[in-house]
Amino acid sequence: MSTTTTTQKKVLGTYGPGSSHWVGDGFPVRNLFPSNGLQLEVSPFLMLDYAGPQYFKPAPEPRGVGEHPHRGFETVTIAYQGSVSHRDSAGNVGTIFPGDVQWMTAASGVLHEEFHEAEFTKNGGVFEMIQLWVNLPAKDKMSKPGYQAITKEQIPVVNFATGGHARIIAGEFLEASGSAVAKGAASTFTPINLWDIILKAGEKVELTVPEGHNTAVVLRKGDVTVNGSGKLNGEAKIATLGRDGETITLEAKEDTQLVLLSGEPINEPIASYGPFVMNTREEIMQAVTDLKNGKFGRL
Ligand code: MN
Repeated sequence: MSTTTTTQKKVLGTYGPGSSHWVGDGFPVRNLFPSNGLQLEVSPFLMLDYAGPQYFKPAPEPRGVGEHPHRGFETVTIAYQGSVSHRDSAGNVGTIFPGDVQWMTAASGVLHEEFHEAEFTKNGGVFEMIQLWVNLPAKDKMSKPGYQAITKEQIPVVNFATGGHARIIAGEFLEASGSAVAKGAASTFTPINLWDIILKAGEKVELTVPEGHNTAVVLRKGDVTVNGSGKLNGEAKIATLGRDGETITLEAKEDTQLVLLSGEPINEPIASYGPFVMNTREEIMQAVTDLKNGKFGRL
């Protein structure tokens, strides 16, 4: 085996939620980007909302967000507690339960709705979820919509020697030596890693992502230091790391739940308007016209 020298990625910044708001009446979210002014340093990712954890009382009708469009990107939903049901104009229907992931490729456009699942609505309970928006390169923005319903069982788990683990939702999990040990469950348009990580108190791990990737560590809960200087503790925090270097060292002081995301930046202009993310203003106006003319189909 060849010997490689790797360098640590530099921590660019750490942030708390840049905004807190409700999405519909079902998702009380803390937004970590773009609300912190983060765009270039998190490309190809566009948005990250951390919903809950929040207790919902039993209710007669499902709470959530009704029919709305998306075009030009993907929405990725990771369920931790509670369940979400989805229905879209491309004919995809599904419910994600704790541990599951829904990877929806809106691409040329879908209308969909996202609601708390019926049983969860009836019984109430704690709701916790992450929704991440992933940009598509210009050449794929108008491709056919897609849908990957990924169950907990389909997500490879890599156990760390010291008690924690990583669930490989997307990408390739590499040992520090650089040999691949696990391939993610989701297929992606551009190179992306999305790892859902649990660390035990006192645990220290070194992870590797490709040189040139933008990287962020998102803390759900706990206390972790990223590459010696990025201190995240409490809930709903983010550290961004630079493109140079490959290694990320995570040191947990307490039991910690976090998500690591990295991806090859998409170096193309962004024009966005609410649920549409395209490259030019003309394409945004076209999306508005197409929606008006029923080109997104029907629910
Ligand atoms: Mn949506």
